[in-house]
Amino acid sequence: MSVILIAGETGQQGVTQQTLELVTAARSLAGDGGEVIAVFTGAQDAVAPALPADSVYLLKHEALGEKDSGTFDAATDVLSALASELDPDIILFARTDRGSVVAPRLAMRLRSAFARDCVAAAWDAGDVIVTRPVHGGNANARFRLAGKGPCVVMFRPGAHDAGAHDAGAHDPASSTTSSPELRNFDPAPHIRESRSKLLRTGQEQKEGVRLEDAEVVVSGGRGLGGPEPFTQLAELADLLGGAVGASRAACDAGWIDHSHQVGLTGKSVSPRLYLSFGISGASQHMAGCSSSRNIVAVNTDADASIFGDARFGVVGDWEKVLPAFISAVRDIS
Ligand SMILES: Cc1cc2nc3c(=O)[nH]c(=O)nc-3n(C[C@H](O)[C@H](O)[C@H](O)COP(=O)(O)OP(=O)(O)OC[C@H]3O[C@@H](n4cnc5c(N)ncnc54)[C@H](O)[C@@H]3O)c2cc1C
Repeated sequence: MSVILIAGETGQQGVTQQTLELVTAARSLAGDGGEVIAVFTGAQDAVAPALPADSVYLLKHEALGEKDSGTFDAATDVLSALASELDPDIILFARTDRGSVVAPRLAMRLRSAFARDCVAAAWDAGDVIVTRPVHGGNANARFRLAGKGPCVVMFRPGAHDAGAHDAGAHDPASSTTSSPELRNFDPAPHIRESRSKLLRTGQEQKEGVRLEDAEVVVSGGRGLGGPEPFTQLAELADLLGGAVGASRAACDAGWIDHSHQVGLTGKSVSPRLYLSFGISGASQHMAGCSSSRNIVAVNTDADASIFGDARFGVVGDWEKVLPAFISAVRDIS
């Protein structure tokens, strides 16, 4: 029987989409009769009833902060103590800011195998096999995780469906849903003195849909020629209930904040529709959006590599296509 531990996270709306995606992955890895346990460090009480896991730990301590905002050191201390007690087969993280720091540290503490940025994981003859995009997303590689102890796997956001659950937890005994069992674990004895101190946390001022969660992303690149066109992209994103993305070139030019960057060193998105204007389709950009269900590209260069990934393409100037597109969307909405 497999035991899968999830390092959950909460945001303003409670359990994050990425955590629900981890539950989907965990259910599949746990198999029949397996156990899915979620642990939240510094989380709100309200998360527990809605989470489709078998059991949940809500660990509280001032060093862990509120809503998972505590120090990464404290989270690593507590998760390694809990993992030693539970002895799970696999520990799952989402590739978030927090996961990217805590997951490798935890693997180091546990002396276990670690795989980052995975899009799939499965059992094979008692070993965990993970799939990771490599070469900027141009190929997938499979890795067998060797070694003792639980392996730590970090999933790329969007790699799994977050909506495959009913509200409430899976009950393996009855195959129905129910609230997860709330378990206790005292973090205090395990938190070491930290060399880093959390001075303050800030919430990104953001209206509308989060880029990572958006069903529609309207993205712009260097071909837009300046910051002004991003106002039009935002208008289109609003009309479609989506969010604005950008290439690194556009962000580096200062036309839009780096929090909008999509790609290898930016955010990973998997919307139903990814609309790109003036983006060439460099592999580092596509690494963050190639799992979108439909990519639409607008580019003046018929040989731009983004057309190789796009389902629909327009060889043309964004200055003509974008206003016409916005007007057409207005007409039908
Ligand atoms: C380690 C590393 C990590 C990186 N990480 C990322 C990342 O996370 N995200 C990312 O995006 N990039 C990343 N990059 C950079 C990446 O390699 C590209 O340089 C970048 O994506 C190019 O951005 P772009 O497509 O906007 O610009 P360009 O490559 O300059 O393309 C602009 C496109 O606009 C088209 N165009 C021009 N005028 C018009 C017009 N009027 N109408 C329509 N189309 C027009 C052009 O034909 C061209 O195809 C990374 C690079 C490295 C080395």
